[in-house]
Amino acid sequence: MSTSHEYDVVVVGAGTAGCYAAATVADEGLDVAVVERKSEEEAGHIACGDALKGADAFPEAIPKSQIEGAFTNTGVDHGRFEIPQEDTVLDIPVPGELAVIDRLKYGRLLIDAAEHAGADFHYNTVVQDVTQAADGTVTGIRGIHSTDAITYDADVVIDGAGSLSLLQDKTDFSNTHFDTNVSYSQFCSAYREIVEVPEPVEWDDALVFKPTERAAGYLWYFPRTDTTINAGLGFQMTEEPMKLVEDLRRDLETRPEFEGAQVTDKLGAALPTRRPYDSAVADGFLAAGDAAGHVNPTTGGGIAGAAYAGTYAAEQAVKAVSESDVSEDALWRYNERVMDHFGARYAGLDVYNVLSTAVDVDDLMGLLASLPGEKLAEALYSGTTSFGPMLLAKTAKESFGYWSQILEFYRTKNLADELMEHYARYPRRAEALPVWQDQRDQLMDEIYEMTGAEPKY
Ligand SMILES: Cc1cc2nc3c(=O)[nH]c(=O)nc-3n(C[C@H](O)[C@H](O)[C@H](O)COP(=O)(O)OP(=O)(O)OC[C@H]3O[C@@H](n4cnc5c(N)ncnc54)[C@H](O)[C@@H]3O)c2cc1C
Repeated sequence: MSTSHEYDVVVVGAGTAGCYAAATVADEGLDVAVVERKSEEEAGHIACGDALKGADAFPEAIPKSQIEGAFTNTGVDHGRFEIPQEDTVLDIPVPGELAVIDRLKYGRLLIDAAEHAGADFHYNTVVQDVTQAADGTVTGIRGIHSTDAITYDADVVIDGAGSLSLLQDKTDFSNTHFDTNVSYSQFCSAYREIVEVPEPVEWDDALVFKPTERAAGYLWYFPRTDTTINAGLGFQMTEEPMKLVEDLRRDLETRPEFEGAQVTDKLGAALPTRRPYDSAVADGFLAAGDAAGHVNPTTGGGIAGAAYAGTYAAEQAVKAVSESDVSEDALWRYNERVMDHFGARYAGLDVYNVLSTAVDVDDLMGLLASLPGEKLAEALYSGTTSFGPMLLAKTAKESFGYWSQILEFYRTKNLADELMEHYARYPRRAEALPVWQDQRDQLMDEIYEMTGAEPKY
């Protein structure tokens, strides 16, 4: 049997990007369907560290008031960086509002909100292909619902299908500027368990981080409550694969507070740790969230980027449908809004990610231990930081032995700043993208040369 549907906009994926996109389209009175491969019960159950940053300023389509029922810990105010190599623990303030959440409950609240706005949800439906007109315009999707073929015709398709989205493998993007320079090496493989501990932990006001034994990875312990801990780890896919389950178990066994603990849930997934896509639009098509690399590449935080990108993509889609022009040019403004809001910053942060793949983990940890916490926090979230003379003098004293790394770090920071300035000049028209990309690639060449890292793009 085969069924077909017609909508103004079809969104693939009932995650953060998909739900914000669908709620935004529905609020504007257009017909929108969300197509999700999982069942209604499983939808919203997504591998995550459960740390939600900046929800107080989330887009209006699904404001904080509609998701805060999932916040289980709003008392976290700092990161606790354990550096065993240096026998040091660094406390680093977390700027802005942060909540640790019950991820499944949050996922369900998002779906409820989008459904309440008027979006239709179609579960158990795996998208397998896109349909395109002779000129390349995306005109819909094809998939399987249970065992039946199903098609959706739409003016615009929004890809919110997450990391390494299948839709992008199926779409012919020739004659567009859509970013297809995407490979596994720009992703991180991550795994987490939800662990119930018998006694309350003392660090329920902190996100705990610890480097993995090899560079370019970390373990985390995020307290959903003082007895429910999200424990996980990830590594950059440029590295030799780690044995995630075993490595997590080994670390858990060294921590007395986890004695007698029970694991209640396990999930793993890939997440992008790369710069945002240079362009995430094609005729009739927009990608948002993990499907377009909208994740802070140093922290792995992607919920906020997905919420904003889903909203911006939907706003552009609504405008395009209303004006009967769904061309790449008509959708281009979406790219500009992403770059303006957070894309430039994430591209800058990616430079530190590139650096981290090229340095020795002991050197990096020694260096981090020597730097002041608030400056690290600034670097981690804003992509840049500056040292006053007093601070420089203090850091120089404490960081004796790491000066050559600091010099390299400082030079890399200057290049990251230059890169962000270049992103501030992101082109206003698709046709200007190749020249902008050439200039950006020259800056990246300098970054690879400075850091000695393998080119990532
Ligand atoms: C282990 C781990 C820990 C993380 N920790 C944090 C954290 O603490 N804080 C934070 O902010 N971010 C974190 N992230 C990142 C964050 O989870 C993602 O950035 C965010 O979920 C992206 O949302 P999204 O809507 O783009 O994609 P997703 O949430 O991945 O949603 C994609 C949806 O599309 C559906 N789908 C995929 N393919 C198809 C198909 N072919 N047909 C139909 N449906 C399909 C999926 O089932 C899914 O429901 C973490 C990620 C991982 C993997």
